[in-house]
Amino acid sequence: MTKSKNLFSKAKKIIPSGVNSPVRFFKPYPFFVKKSLGSSIWDEDGKSYIDFCNGYGALLLGHTRKEIISAVSSQLKKGTLYGTPTSLEIELSNLIMKNFPSMNKVRLVNTGAEATMTAIRLARGFTKKKKIIKFEGCYHGAYDSVLVKAGSGSAHNGISVSDGGLDEVSKNTIVVPYNDSPTLEKVLTKQKDIAGLIVEPILANMGLILPEKKFLSDLRKMTRQHDVPLIFDEVVTGFRVSEGGAQKKFGIKPDLTTLGKALGNGFVISAVGGRKEIMNKLAPDGKVYQASTFAGNPVSVSAAISSIKTINKIKNKLYSKLERNCELLVNEIDDLATDYKIPHQINSISSMFQIFFSKSPVTDYETSKKANGKKFQKLFSNLLRNGVFIAPSQYETIFLSDAHTDSNITKTMGAFGLSLQAVKN
Ligand SMILES: *Cc1c(COP(=O)(O)O)cnc(C)c1O
Repeated sequence: MTKSKNLFSKAKKIIPSGVNSPVRFFKPYPFFVKKSLGSSIWDEDGKSYIDFCNGYGALLLGHTRKEIISAVSSQLKKGTLYGTPTSLEIELSNLIMKNFPSMNKVRLVNTGAEATMTAIRLARGFTKKKKIIKFEGCYHGAYDSVLVKAGSGSAHNGISVSDGGLDEVSKNTIVVPYNDSPTLEKVLTKQKDIAGLIVEPILANMGLILPEKKFLSDLRKMTRQHDVPLIFDEVVTGFRVSEGGAQKKFGIKPDLTTLGKALGNGFVISAVGGRKEIMNKLAPDGKVYQASTFAGNPVSVSAAISSIKTINKIKNKLYSKLERNCELLVNEIDDLATDYKIPHQINSISSMFQIFFSKSPVTDYETSKKANGKKFQKLFSNLLRNGVFIAPSQYETIFLSDAHTDSNITKTMGAFGLSLQAVKN
């Protein structure tokens, strides 16, 4: 790791904390990457890791997926940015809407944060109301109105409300515990100024937390009753838990949806879409303003088209393979931790899982915070030593990709065996 160590000391001098996103830092220093291919990632010292971070879930089809690289390569020769529309954008929007029938119109943006910011502004513009409801531990991007009791890196670094964020903004965000329908009902009954409710239908930013049986249908019922637009933030779950995201898996139709991560399989692209009468509020026809230089750029759009087409073509095999591999891993890890008598919980769904070192089930922000973070860090560093890379935080999720082979899964089980033994000691 000598090269990574040197690079980190150089980076720290000119990049705050040495990283361009907080969760990428871990002790003593992150490894610097030279290349990736399929299921693997290589550091500057030539050591390879089986990747289960997968760009925080973006790389559903794995690194350097040939269909996507070939689509993007041929687009690169035709130009990278036009500042004017292309037929590719129509093709992509149609593909998105075919997979997500709740979307009657789609606008393409760049990042997940931009997508949720636009969804929230749309909800406010549509209802002419002010407050939004979010859930504890849900992460929707790094900006004031949603950076309140958020998950991901902000939970990892213990920043519940960011310095520099305006109280005037965050006081319009009402935070409710996840999986707590009765509290939500009270809030909706008492507060009259609610513009929208945003939720991760599967909470993947506080570790992995599953919605309890009736939680999502309760959300749908209550928001409809109180005339509050329901926003599903499917930046993680879109295309990952099914080709139609969590809304297809659970049979819930939100008013607005945001997509990101797996949409571009590693390229910068996100989308916001939903009911026509809400989407029509966007400028220039409507008065809700949103704009971006790089939105709908042909490089990212061709990546997303290729990604969705590939997913749709192989979906029968893709999701069953991902689920089978995930189940194999989870069962083995569960057995190992039980054998070693380490108190633990594993939450999993489709191609995602997370282990918590805790005696009690993890169902929300509070129970996730109770898990033993030190033990998790020990697991992380030992996995790394044994050639397996997972996200370096208890509050992230372990993601599988289509590129994982049977031998990757077997090797990963071995690495967990050794690493859990270290956690026990
Ligand atoms: C990652 C994430 C975002 C933010 O996406 P960025 O592309 O990092 O801005 C928003 N919502 C969820 C659920 C996410 O996991």
